[in-house]
Amino acid sequence: MPPATDDPVVAELERLRHQAEACEDCLLSETRTRVVFGEGDPHSDLMFVGEAPGYHEDQQGRPFVGQAGKLLEQLLATIGLTREQVYIANVLKSRPPNNRDPKPEEIEACQPYLRRQIELIAPRVVCTLGNFSTKLLSGSQTGITRVHGIPQRTTIGERTLYLYPIFHPAAALYTPAMLETLKQDFLRLPEVLGLPLDDNLEATGDQTVGVAPGAVLPREAPQGDMPASDTPRGDVPASDARASDPATPPPTPPAQRGPAEQLGLF
Ligand code: URA
Repeated sequence: MPPATDDPVVAELERLRHQAEACEDCLLSETRTRVVFGEGDPHSDLMFVGEAPGYHEDQQGRPFVGQAGKLLEQLLATIGLTREQVYIANVLKSRPPNNRDPKPEEIEACQPYLRRQIELIAPRVVCTLGNFSTKLLSGSQTGITRVHGIPQRTTIGERTLYLYPIFHPAAALYTPAMLETLKQDFLRLPEVLGLPLDDNLEATGDQTVGVAPGAVLPREAPQGDMPASDTPRGDVPASDARASDPATPPPTPPAQRGPAEQLGLF
């Protein structure tokens, strides 16, 4: 039994966690070991949303505890943060067997949990990691290769916030060019956290590009040459890296890959 709390956000998140742990709204409930609800500071201005638990997350019931999680922690350190200071969740709360892609019906069944988490935590910035969370929360089919590093002012439930899509750390682990882009995008997070959110901004009429005039954080150059491998979860074999942006080239071949830590970039 969790300790009683005076904090209504914590209490409601705990209630939601218990609901998720008992959830049988999709078939993943039959194969998961543990529900991976999410964790971190429930009052953080910054929330990360990945794709789905992998093997280690499923075993431990915690998000991003494998190789991808280590990289995420290293990236957080570059902006002076620890994982305890942010909130980390996923689109799916249960692991897809063999780390396959989430199915549309699984995303549909699970998304109320994520949306409620966002409403309760009320972050200024939701940093979406890879294609699945980016497409779900932006409501657009435009892939991560095109939208990474560009803040999008949007509304989720009652909350106005910035979506900030970046490459998934698991994909960047094996693709040096993607890792470099991820690092650059990550370094802009403090600036994105400082973007104004009040309603006195000039309305653009477009919720997906509603960054205030003058507040856009331009990227240096179009990333057209960026490999578009999708979002393999932590410790997924390199051969499992999937390209879900059909218009873009396949990921770098395994021979050119190595975990980020071995690249000497951190
Ligand atoms: N990849 C994800 O998308 N989520 C995790 O929790 C771990 C790896």
